Amino acid sequence: MVRSNPASSAPHPPRSPRAGQGGRIRQAPVFSATSSADAEELRRLNWALAAYARSSAALIHSSTFEELVTGVCNAIVGEDDYRLAAAGLIEDTAGEPLRMVAGAGAASAYLDHLRTAGPELSGTGQGPTGRAIRSREPQIVRDAREEPADSPWSKRVLAHGIRSSVTVPFQRNGKVAGVLKVYSAKPDAFGAREIEVFVQLGSELAFALGILEERAHRQAAEEARRAAEERAQESLAELARAARVVSLGAFAASLAHEVNQPVAAIMANGEAAMRWLSKTPANVDEVRAALVRITRDAERTSAVVGRTRGMLAKGLGERHATDIGALLNETVQFTQPQLRRWQVRADVSVAKGLPPAEVDHVQVQQVLVNLITNAIDAMKSVTGRRRVLKASVVLNPEGLVEVAVADTGTGIGEAFADKVFDHLFTTKPDGVGLGLPICRSIVEAHGGRINMRPNTPFGAVFCFTLPPAPPQTVLN
Ligand code: ADP
Repeated sequence: MVRSNPASSAPHPPRSPRAGQGGRIRQAPVFSATSSADAEELRRLNWALAAYARSSAALIHSSTFEELVTGVCNAIVGEDDYRLAAAGLIEDTAGEPLRMVAGAGAASAYLDHLRTAGPELSGTGQGPTGRAIRSREPQIVRDAREEPADSPWSKRVLAHGIRSSVTVPFQRNGKVAGVLKVYSAKPDAFGAREIEVFVQLGSELAFALGILEERAHRQAAEEARRAAEERAQESLAELARAARVVSLGAFAASLAHEVNQPVAAIMANGEAAMRWLSKTPANVDEVRAALVRITRDAERTSAVVGRTRGMLAKGLGERHATDIGALLNETVQFTQPQLRRWQVRADVSVAKGLPPAEVDHVQVQQVLVNLITNAIDAMKSVTGRRRVLKASVVLNPEGLVEVAVADTGTGIGEAFADKVFDHLFTTKPDGVGLGLPICRSIVEAHGGRINMRPNTPFGAVFCFTLPPAPPQTVLN
């Protein structure tokens, strides 16, 4: 086998302007047209330009190094009857075998061999790859048949229809980063033109490798930042939910405690009245007395509930003129992690020129969070249609600021429609049944109204109004 360094047998291939460093301007190789440009020369020139043009397309469109190498190798084998073109990378450790990234060509079985070739394909190997890595110069095998007859290498390449090859190293940051290998079925297939093109393509690969690595780092950093932000938002939402559950729990406990006693009395009086009635003759006076006590206790129960609602309303902090559209946008933003997790698309629309509403924005936000969370809950089990949350704010015909939260969820069956605002009504296994009653208390404490209607064709719409702030109120 005759090996030659093209530096001695051919004009030295011009270095790419970005070799090793990464210049910005891409240059095609320059070929000099001479009077000796016979048919073969022209063919080679055309080949070189076509291979270069096709590789350029791969360089522009690839998003991974493997895709790029596949594109470049396809471009190389597509322009001539090369058996195989392949490129590999040298990982950090010296002496590690080359990691073949990708390749193209009819002799793909030989690529499989290259992928597992071991130390021979490393900087310590005695073959063309090892020599290319050490010398940093292209290495040519002119004819495998000139190898000694018992050489396992020549037998193997000949079995794959390969007669000659060129191995071009490419550098990045002053180190050999990998090699581009091209194999031909013809002996002596690689002249100065071809080598020049492969050297250019090698340096383009090195340049693109840098860009792709940088892009991967940027993407990883961006993803880490997004994940951290998402975690932070999720824990915020969790905190808010936990706070809500705790306050709802305390509220439920106090309500249950206060209501329990009159309800127990109502039951006792009911039973007593039944007993008086079943006597012969029935003791109508006792029954009447029991019914009076029942009515009194029922009134007490209603007063307790009313007072609790009043307490809730009094819990209002300061009210300020608030841009409800901005508050809605902010709240939808706040629930993004849940929306994303359940693949819910959120559409927010805010009418132009809305007046502000004078509200405790924390409480109104609590109403919005409740309605949005309920809407997401109602869409979790939905399949086969889009999960869409539409939240809007308009000025209604009565001159009130009106917020609507619509979903494409399961909707609310007629049987439940007038129960959803009841205390402790829930259809969820982990529900508390206080979200909507609290929403109603807050809205009513602000002088507004809340109601529910079915959405068409699916889901539910919860709608509440808030009176606008008096004119000339300064926005908070
Ligand atoms: P919880 O969410 O703890 O169940 P709520 O008072 O917020 O308590 O809601 C009461 C019930 O109203 C829910 O369990 C559910 O059955 C129903 N509901 C509320 N919002 C919706 C909605 N957007 N779509 C369908 N059902 C809903």
